[in-house]
Amino acid sequence: MKDFDLIVIGAGPGGYVAAIKAAKLGMKTAIIEDIRVGGTCLNRGCIPAKAMIHAAGLYKEIKQEGEAIGIYADQAHFDYQKIVNYKQETSDELVGGIEALLDGNGVERIPGKGTLHGDKRVTVKGADGTEAVYTAERVLIATGSVPALIPVPGIDLPGVLTSDGVFQLTEMPESLVIIGGGVIGVEFATVFANLGAKVTIVEALPRILQNLDKEISQNLKMILKKSDVDIHTGALVNKIEASDQGLTVFYEEKGKEQTASGQYVVCAAGRKPYTDGLFAEDVTIDMDGKQIDTDETKGFETSVKGVYAIGDVVPGIKLAHMASAQGIYCVEKMAAERDGNTSCIPDINLNAIPACVYTDPEIAQVGMTEADAKEQGIPVKTGKFIMSANGKSLITHEERGFIKVVAKEDTGEILGAQMMCARATDMISEYVTAIANGMTVQQLLKSVRPHPTYNEGITEALEDVFGESLHTVPRRRKK
Ligand code: NAD
Repeated sequence: MKDFDLIVIGAGPGGYVAAIKAAKLGMKTAIIEDIRVGGTCLNRGCIPAKAMIHAAGLYKEIKQEGEAIGIYADQAHFDYQKIVNYKQETSDELVGGIEALLDGNGVERIPGKGTLHGDKRVTVKGADGTEAVYTAERVLIATGSVPALIPVPGIDLPGVLTSDGVFQLTEMPESLVIIGGGVIGVEFATVFANLGAKVTIVEALPRILQNLDKEISQNLKMILKKSDVDIHTGALVNKIEASDQGLTVFYEEKGKEQTASGQYVVCAAGRKPYTDGLFAEDVTIDMDGKQIDTDETKGFETSVKGVYAIGDVVPGIKLAHMASAQGIYCVEKMAAERDGNTSCIPDINLNAIPACVYTDPEIAQVGMTEADAKEQGIPVKTGKFIMSANGKSLITHEERGFIKVVAKEDTGEILGAQMMCARATDMISEYVTAIANGMTVQQLLKSVRPHPTYNEGITEALEDVFGESLHTVPRRRKK
C-alpha cells in the first residue's frame, strides 16, 4: 500500500494547480515544496513584477497624464520601501490563499527538498536536516526554473542582479543596465523608467522581444525610447567591470566595442530548468539538454513509468499558465486511466497559449502572426484596427496601439492575433477562446461588444478582415 496516489514535487503554478485538481479528482495527494508555495510566479516573478508595474504605472500616470485633464500633482513622489512592502503583501496574501486552498482540498503539504529514487520513493529533507520517505503510485515533477547567468567575466560582481535580486532591492536604483531585451528585460525597464531611473537595455538579437510580432517590437522600442530608455540591439555583452559609476557593461555592437554603465546590472538573459538534487543516483531519466523529456500524448509521462513532468522543467513554452494547463491535462489523464477510460481527451487545448507582456501599453499575442503563416505557406487574410479611434483609449489617453487578427483565407478560421494596447492581456482571451474552439471571424463577429470598451477594437479588427471596419476611413476594399 503506497502512502499517496500522487506526490507532486514543486508547488509553483504547475505543481499546486495539478495537486488541487488531482485531489478534486479523488486522488490522495501530497505536495513537496522547499521554499514557499506559489513558486517563481507568486514569489519572484509574475505577481511581484505586476505589482511593481502597477505602482510605477500609477506614479507615471499621475505625474504625466494628470495635468492634461486638469489634475495637478506637483508634489507627487513615491516611497520605494512602501512600494516594496505593497509588492510583498500582495504576494503574501496570494501565497496564504494557495496554502488554504491546498489544505481545504485535502492536499498534504510536505515542506522540504524532495529527491526522487528509482523505485519512485521520494525522500524529503527538511530545513532542520531530518529526512522522511514517502511512496506513491505516481510522481509529478514541477520544479520550475531559475535565472540563467551569462558566462562572461564579471557576472559574479556585487551589484550584478538576476530578477530574484531586483525584487530584493530596498532602495530605488538610480540607474540600471539590463542585459537582455526579452520579456523580463522590457518589464523591468518599464518599471524603473516609469519611476525615473536611467535604464539601458543591451540585447544580442536584432530586436527586443524578438519572438513577438515585428511591429510590436518596433513600436515598443520607440515607446521605451520616449521614456528615455537607451536600447542597443545586435549588441552582445562580453564583460562586466566595476567602475566609478558602479558597473560598466562591455558589449560588441556593429563590430565595435561599446560600454554602458549603471549602479546595477540586471542579467535578464533567460532562465534554466531547475533539477538540482532532484534525482538520486539510481534514477536514469531521459533528458533533452537540461530539460526533462516527456511524452505529451501520455499526459507528460517521462521515460520512467509513473513519473511525469510539467512546466518550466520540460521543453516548450515556459509560462505560468502553460504550466497550470499542463498540470490539469496531466492529472485528468491519470484519473481517466485510473477509471479505465483510455479514450479520454483532456478538456484543455494546449495549442492556443497566449503570451503577455506587461509593458506600457500591454502586449498580448496568441497563435500565428502573418509572417508565421507566410513562412508556413498558409494563405491568410488579415485585419487591423488602430486603437486611437477607440473611444475608451481616447478617454484614458492610452498610447497609440493596435489589434491585428490573422485568419485562414478560405474558411475564415482564426489562426492568430496580436495586440498592443491597454488591457491587451485581458482582451487576448477572446481570441484564445476562438482559436481553441476553431472559430471563424464571422462567428466571433456575432458577439455584440459593450460600449465604451477597449474590446470594441476586437470587433473593428475582425471587420477589417473584410475591409469593413466601421470606425476606419476606407483606404481599400478587401475581397
Ligand atoms: P528571454 O529568453 O525572453 O529573453 C532573454 C534575452 O536575453 C534574449 O532576447 C537574448 O537574446 C538576450 N541575451 C542573452 N544573452 C545575451 C548577451 N550576452 N548579451 C545581450 N543579450 C543577451 O528570457 P527572460 O526575459 O529572461 O525571461 C525568462 C522566461 O520567463 C521566459 O520564458 C519568459 O517568457 C518568462 N517570463 C514571462 C513573463 C510574462 O509572461 N509576462 C514575464 C517574465 C518572464
